Amino acid sequence: GAARAQGSIGAGIVLRDVVKNYGDFRAADCISLDIRPGEFITLLGPSGSGKTTLLNLIAGFQKLDSGEMHVDGAPIDHVPTHKRGFGMVFQSYALFPTMTVAQNVAFPLRMAGVDRATAERRVAETLEIMRLSEHAQKTPSQMSGGQQQRVAIARAIVRRPRIVLMDEPLSALDRRLRESIQIEIRELHRAIGSTILFVTHDQGEALTMSDRIAVMDAGRIVQIGTPVDIYRHPQNRFVASFVGESNLIEAEIVQRRGATMALRNRAGYVFEADAGHGIEVGRATVLVRPERIAIADGPGPHAMPVTVTSALFLGEVLRIEARTDSGETLLIRCMDAAGRSLPAAGERLHVSWGAADCWVLA
Ligand code: ATP
Repeated sequence: GAARAQGSIGAGIVLRDVVKNYGDFRAADCISLDIRPGEFITLLGPSGSGKTTLLNLIAGFQKLDSGEMHVDGAPIDHVPTHKRGFGMVFQSYALFPTMTVAQNVAFPLRMAGVDRATAERRVAETLEIMRLSEHAQKTPSQMSGGQQQRVAIARAIVRRPRIVLMDEPLSALDRRLRESIQIEIRELHRAIGSTILFVTHDQGEALTMSDRIAVMDAGRIVQIGTPVDIYRHPQNRFVASFVGESNLIEAEIVQRRGATMALRNRAGYVFEADAGHGIEVGRATVLVRPERIAIADGPGPHAMPVTVTSALFLGEVLRIEARTDSGETLLIRCMDAAGRSLPAAGERLHVSWGAADCWVLA
């Protein structure tokens, strides 16, 4: 069977107040981050938010202007890239075109002076983990993009590094292939136990793969948490809108009843939300995810009338856009079901959601 790590080999990474400027531009703005040994952590953010900059600082391709970086408690600021011993995977596979798959994967071992027998065993084990054994004697040009990226990953992990850095490794691949390699990388992580720092701008990818996600905006980490945390309990409007689809509803707090509060939106719909944010009175922005909105059978005291502006059949779900009577747009996703027809534009619907379906933004 495939090689299994004997215990965890992953290293912890600690960043303290890390700053990186390009001229006047601050690409990393006082970033502090604690990555646990063996953790799969994803940097997620829009283009230009500083993900690659942070990865390059950890890799040693760039020098920090100030702050500290430690790996397993030891400072690494002055350790050159090749001595850090991290595995790296990039969007472009960067394989050696004239070498076979086996030679590509063996390359880091050769550079490290590992003896031939050990190297051969290591390469065979790694090819097996990445399901590449049957392709060992091919050259990169004889393989698909997805296979080439798996070779690049195999090459990055063949020395069982304590840390593997991956910068958008799947963004050149089509969606189906991306999804299957996402699962492979997760399994790989479990098998080898390295700490993996993964960069993506794809929120679905981050949610699927990560133990924790660090959401970046303008050179800062704006929130860090498990995928469930980040999706259900975003700390601000940016995270709420960047991760998943969101309805951000402006509402007035009408009353507080123990653990829940009653709110009224601009259309006059009164609904409850789980409280606990310390917001007592005044206005609030409430996140309601599109899949948490229910379509009622008809008018009722707890249903809000809306007018459909568009409806799409997406297979397992219907995606409906509607307008409230005060002009707010609501996005609704509901499962396709027998007897449920696709509403027409202009049609009136009645929608509702419960206290547990809301998240009041701080
Ligand atoms: P993307 O998803 O587009 O790769 P990113 O989140 O990885 O974006 P970075 O590549 O870290 O972002 O870039 C952060 C900011 O720093 C960007 O505004 C970029 O233009 C700027 N930047 C990056 N490298 C340099 C450089 N060598 N010189 C000047 N500015 C740079």
